[in-house]
Amino acid sequence: MREGNLIDGRWVGADSGATFEVSDPATDRVVGRVPDAGADEARRAVDAAFGAFSAWAAKPAIERAKVLEALSARLAGDREELAALLTEEQGKPLPEARAEIDYARSFFEVSAKACQEIRDETPSVPGKKVLVHRRPIGVAAAITPWNFPMAMLAKKIAPAMAVGCTQVLKPAEQTPLSAIALLDRAMASGVPPGVLNLVTGDPAAIGSAWLEDPRVRKLSFTGSTDVGRILMRGAATNLQRLSLELGGHAPMIVFEDASVDFAVEMAMAAKYRNGGQTCICPNRFLVHRSLHDQFVSKFASRSAALVSGRGRDPGIALGPMIDDAAIDKVEAHVADAIQQGATVVTGGRRRRIEGLADRFFEPTVLTDCHSGMRCWKEETFGPVCPIRGFDDETEALAQANDSEYGLASYVVTNDPARIRRLGDELRTGIIGVNDPGPAVAAVPFGGVKHSGFGREGGRWGLEEYLEMVTVSSLEPGAE
Ligand code: NAP
Repeated sequence: MREGNLIDGRWVGADSGATFEVSDPATDRVVGRVPDAGADEARRAVDAAFGAFSAWAAKPAIERAKVLEALSARLAGDREELAALLTEEQGKPLPEARAEIDYARSFFEVSAKACQEIRDETPSVPGKKVLVHRRPIGVAAAITPWNFPMAMLAKKIAPAMAVGCTQVLKPAEQTPLSAIALLDRAMASGVPPGVLNLVTGDPAAIGSAWLEDPRVRKLSFTGSTDVGRILMRGAATNLQRLSLELGGHAPMIVFEDASVDFAVEMAMAAKYRNGGQTCICPNRFLVHRSLHDQFVSKFASRSAALVSGRGRDPGIALGPMIDDAAIDKVEAHVADAIQQGATVVTGGRRRRIEGLADRFFEPTVLTDCHSGMRCWKEETFGPVCPIRGFDDETEALAQANDSEYGLASYVVTNDPARIRRLGDELRTGIIGVNDPGPAVAAVPFGGVKHSGFGREGGRWGLEEYLEMVTVSSLEPGAE
């Protein structure tokens, strides 16, 4: 297992020689040590990416696509090894880690295809010949979170590499090993030195070094809204283009025409992925009063049956929260809800498991929730499901849209007219209608409002790394 930083094709340590530990959140066992680097290493990563840009951008799209496809094949070949590593440093159940490797791969496949379909355009302008073409924006930076350490990086690497950009990358401190493993596979798949560079360490120093460098033309960030704001301010000096994939607080609305059994299945699939530590997880459940009690009872009994434990063990549905701060927040949200009158239908406490760290939380279903509660207003990022009843669509829509976030929302209904209306009226970038997994590599993914802007996935993801150039020539003889 590699543990270094990648700069200009070489695996290196921090200048100071300092490292920090990476540990398994389920056991606190140290599983690796990575360089504790800072601004100097970050700048050298930009030197390398800048140096590699012209040659990579000049390659025909089909050549770049072949490298992406080779990387995808390598990830497929190493799926078990990569999934085990991901589970070890992140905690998620092994089947979910395998699914994440597959999801990561799908971005390389989709981008390899999409980069070969980019075409120049020739808008019709009387007396002129106009060509609109797109070129890679240059050096792109990416900063990623810990919840999907492989996929979040793949979502940024695949489209950027596909169009000819070179990159500097910083993964989250909790999960750098998956990122390093991904770059190791990239190098083995024929990515030239300098095209991808990775630095681990001080986030503020690394982020600032990149934003202060005018050679960096783009920053793609996935993480919290607070850090997104800091980065957006930092990008003001050099006017780097931004994609900000920020926090979410998804509502799931179960309408009166839904099948309760289907709604419960959908809630289970959408909510408990990664123990609720997923930006598009439903965090607020709105259930029509005619189905409320039945939904609550079935959802609570399915939730209570979920088994927690170490992600590598068979039958585990819920891993640990990523760190102590994460479980403290979950606990505080539940305590606040109870104090404000919520009823705990199931869960509500930490789940102690012998021999494992105190970082597991019971799947928790709360009723009698209202909009003054923290769990109704903020992203809990854990296995907590606050539920409220509603009487009609207008009320459900108003409650669903009553959030500063706008990443994802979910709807359970079979009414086509309602589906059309809600597609217009729900203020989120992604809407899953009877679909617990709307995020796939072929479609645009991203938020509105405080969930950020920019899109990842499909050709839309590639456009984030392209700048548009208009070449306008007067036709001979025209004035
Ligand atoms: P975070 O604290 O914002 O961290 C994300 C990344 O930003 C990490 O690599 C972190 O580095 C880095 N960072 C922190 N402070 C920084 C600074 N001042 N300058 C530059 N980089 C900095 O978020 P998180 O807690 O890891 O992730 C959870 C959040 O991500 C949730 O809000 C979730 O909704 C959101 N998320 C959104 C999406 C989406 O697609 N919209 C997807 C997944 C997650 P260190 O780890 O070294 O601190």
